[in-house]
Amino acid sequence: MGIMVREFERLYVHVPFCVRKCLYCGFFSEVLSGDDDVEMYLSCLEREFEAYALRCGEILSVYIGGGTPSSLSADQLGRLFELVRGNFELSRDVEVTVEANPDTLTGEKVGLIWGFAGRVSLGVQSFSCEFCRRIGRDVPEGSAERALEMLCGAEGRGDISCDLIYALPGQGLEDFGEDLEKLVSYPVSHISTYSLTLEEEALLKGDAFSVDERGGNDEDASMMEFCREYLEGRGFLMYEVSNYARPGHESRHNLGVWLGGTYLGCGPSAASFDGVDRWQNVRGLDLWVSGGSPEPDKISADSRAREIFAMGLRTVAGWDRALLVERTGLCWEVLLEELRPLIAEGLMVSDRGRIGCSRKGLMLWNELAERIIL
Ligand code: SF4
Repeated sequence: MGIMVREFERLYVHVPFCVRKCLYCGFFSEVLSGDDDVEMYLSCLEREFEAYALRCGEILSVYIGGGTPSSLSADQLGRLFELVRGNFELSRDVEVTVEANPDTLTGEKVGLIWGFAGRVSLGVQSFSCEFCRRIGRDVPEGSAERALEMLCGAEGRGDISCDLIYALPGQGLEDFGEDLEKLVSYPVSHISTYSLTLEEEALLKGDAFSVDERGGNDEDASMMEFCREYLEGRGFLMYEVSNYARPGHESRHNLGVWLGGTYLGCGPSAASFDGVDRWQNVRGLDLWVSGGSPEPDKISADSRAREIFAMGLRTVAGWDRALLVERTGLCWEVLLEELRPLIAEGLMVSDRGRIGCSRKGLMLWNELAERIIL
């Protein structure tokens, strides 16, 4: 059975504004320069919602990311939320996530966000102002703590997820341990941890620090291992290469995307997937506003199937046979035969109708994905 075009079941909205540009940033965003750009953005977003709403089924999850959604004013955020509510049919137990950065949150915005979303994803990166400064995030001292206190103390609060970056320039295991310790002292239910990617490192190199200050892959691996042990000892389970959650608090949106679910991406640079094809909106606010055509990601059906399969291997649970066949059209028996060497090397495991990475395979997911995608 081949894969088919399906209705969009998830919605991603890209808010393309930030208050400053972090040195390592590879996402598309522009430094917020005034209300006019936001007004233009909101009216074009409405048109994009209207154009695609009919291709959507009941929306299972909404993810408002960026950029920095919380850089919008309370009034603008409220209008954005109304546009989502007014244009899509949200499922009764829809999971709604809004990304925020600590220094742009206010009590008013927190109230609005909790009135709309059940999850907030807060970009802490590090509690240390010095490490943040080294990657171009000049946040005022104590802003992450203040944002967490506001989010935790607000009425009607939902799940709080935080991002941390490790292996920052000059950062040792002990410094990272301090970030983890402080983070778990708050009632957060989800933690995403990333090391700077090679691409991000390259962006950094030109500016703030020498490459020698940044440890290599071995250091990343030991920090990842340390992080897993630390968080698993405090009630968080690793459920994806970079993500930990208290049981039942995993990101349903991201799980859906990793396992070949369909999603509509709106806003500049947002990507969409309809079950067969993937495409990306133009990277540029002006280009997007003036109707620039999305860029198709044209690959063969076999490459798409392998790409979906490899993405699902980021999850600790891996693939269930029926879902894998439905989402990729791959033949289970042929695939198992092909994966024999990876299983023999201890990178993958197959058991009772499931296939996934071993612990070692998860640590080496990048290399493993390259071997699967060919
Ligand atoms: S806040 Fe996020 S999106 Fe904005 S510049 Fe920094 S890393 Fe990029």
